[in-house]
Amino acid sequence: MSSPGYRRQVLLFLGAIILPCIVLVAMSVRMMAQQRELAEKRLADARSQVVRNIHQELFTRLERIALQEANSLATRQAPHLRHYENPEVVLVGLVERDHLILPWEAIRNEANARFPVPEPDQVTTVQQGERREFIDKNFTGAAAKYVEAMAASQDPVQLGRTQLLYARVLKDLGRRDDAFNYYRTVLSLPSDVTDEHGIPLFLYAATGLLNAATEKRSIIERLGEEVKRQGWLPPTAAAMFQGLTATLVESAGEPAQREAAERLLHKSVEYRELVKQTLALRDDFPRLGILPTRLNQTADPERRWIPYGKERWLVTAVTANSTLIAVVVRAQAILGPLEASNIFSNASVGQVRLLAGGTTSGEPLAPAFPGIRVVFEAGTDVVAQRWNFENTFYFLILIVVLSVTSFGAYLVWRDVRRELHLAEMRSQFVSSVSHELKTPLTAIRMFAETLRMGRMRDEAMRNEYLETIGTESERLTRLLNNVLDFSKIEQGQKRYNFQQACLADTVRTAARTMRYPLSQEGHELRVDLGETLPDIRIDPDALEQAILNLLTNAMKYSAVGSEIDLRLVQQDGHAVIQVIDRGVGIPSDQHSRIFEKFYRVPAEENELVPGTGLGLTLVEHIANAHGGHTEVTSTVGQGSTFSIHLPMGHLPIRTEE
Ligand code: ADP
Repeated sequence: MSSPGYRRQVLLFLGAIILPCIVLVAMSVRMMAQQRELAEKRLADARSQVVRNIHQELFTRLERIALQEANSLATRQAPHLRHYENPEVVLVGLVERDHLILPWEAIRNEANARFPVPEPDQVTTVQQGERREFIDKNFTGAAAKYVEAMAASQDPVQLGRTQLLYARVLKDLGRRDDAFNYYRTVLSLPSDVTDEHGIPLFLYAATGLLNAATEKRSIIERLGEEVKRQGWLPPTAAAMFQGLTATLVESAGEPAQREAAERLLHKSVEYRELVKQTLALRDDFPRLGILPTRLNQTADPERRWIPYGKERWLVTAVTANSTLIAVVVRAQAILGPLEASNIFSNASVGQVRLLAGGTTSGEPLAPAFPGIRVVFEAGTDVVAQRWNFENTFYFLILIVVLSVTSFGAYLVWRDVRRELHLAEMRSQFVSSVSHELKTPLTAIRMFAETLRMGRMRDEAMRNEYLETIGTESERLTRLLNNVLDFSKIEQGQKRYNFQQACLADTVRTAARTMRYPLSQEGHELRVDLGETLPDIRIDPDALEQAILNLLTNAMKYSAVGSEIDLRLVQQDGHAVIQVIDRGVGIPSDQHSRIFEKFYRVPAEENELVPGTGLGLTLVEHIANAHGGHTEVTSTVGQGSTFSIHLPMGHLPIRTEE
């Protein structure tokens, strides 16, 4: 193949196929990147919308709770109890001069206000009793004083406290049953009957009764009532409560009692944790940064909710009726339902998690909620999944497009190569034909000229000249026939003229035609027509042309003087015409190619042999037209055998091609 042609081909290929492919790939990659960016942006937008919605919802809910609790604190019947308007609330407390007043402190203040001045006589009598009890060790005298003081008591607190003193002295006097009676009386007092430290008197009574095995049940019941009441007990009372329940767990006889005591112990431990965190909150409260700058601003848009403590609380301060009130809610109780609500979590943004304090992951919710962060779980996966899906889709399309393009490119490449090859062979063919025409024409002209001039006196020589003119004319005719037939085949116009005829006659005619040219080259043609074959449907002229082509080849590709066999045999229901030579032979890898049009074996010894590369193409076409085929066996340097196999039965025969 010529190098400019090859270069043009490569350029064409690059320009028409490779460049568009590269552009396509680049565009696809860019498109995929854009898709990803778009997906990420969409996700970010969706998430910030979710964050805004959560903020809105959380703010509304908390604001409602804060205002409700603040308003109800003033009107509440029982501020000392731990149940509030909203179940999420842990604590609602007054703030005075930037300090949080804890519920039990409020109760104590209230109690002290309720009984501001104890009855002086009663107090004096109690003090006298205590002196007798502790200094004089005169228990009987002390008991008398306590009885006197009980009679003088003006309010349940004074009475209860004196009853406790009396019961203690009764115990010292050995009157245990009487003592337990008094303790029982105090045990049944309501929880808001407390001493000056806010400790309910029933707790002292319960301690006094602990030694009485029979009283365990009533103590457990009373403590249970207190748990149910959910009152705020001051830290000392909470410690007493826990001590009592621990002793009860250790000393409980019956399993049912022990279980009940254990439940109480559990509750008291819980309550002490609550008290601990509440006390810490009181200490930290002024520094939390939630105190409003302006009073009387109920719906404060700048109100902040601060996460606080180990068990996360959200704390804020709200003003109601010119009073500042702290509202504390359990973070999980508020954030949990928000997390679970489907409004915010959906597949496109990932599962939402709300974290109150102690983390830096996720993004901050809003300035009003410092410390609350929104985390989108499995969020990156959402983009990755979607991107992966789109990516795979585009990738597959790209692969399909590239495969189709590459396949098309291959086909174009192959066709272009073929065309170039054919063009090259055609030009060779033209020069071969011109050359082949020239040789016989020169001979004919030369011999005819000699004869015309009448110089040839020898009869024998004249006859030989005439013979040569005849043979060369036949060779010319054969050549022209081959070219004409080939052209008809190419145009699809080749017609065959089939008739019932004797194949041996056709073979014989061909042998006769070639005998003289062969003998001139010194070849001996041995013809063997074998047994007589029945007539079959053939085109005798076409077959003769095919045999002549084979014999011409045998002559052209054999050394001068070698033997050539022409045989007609019968094989497997076929009539087989064989032409056997002892010539140059054909390499086995060329056997399939020599039947292609214009094809000539590229061997040095063949270059000097004239030829067009059409002879075998025609032989094969003729054989196929008869419903038969051609075969070749050949060994380089030893010779070749070409055979035309023709069916003898009534096989379908193509009448035209
Ligand atoms: P050509 O006009 O070149 O002979 P053909 O189609 O008849 O064209 O043959 C194709 C090629 O096959 C030849 O060029 C030659 O190389 C090879 N060939 C054909 N017949 C023979 C043979 N009998 N011995 C050796 N080579 C042969």
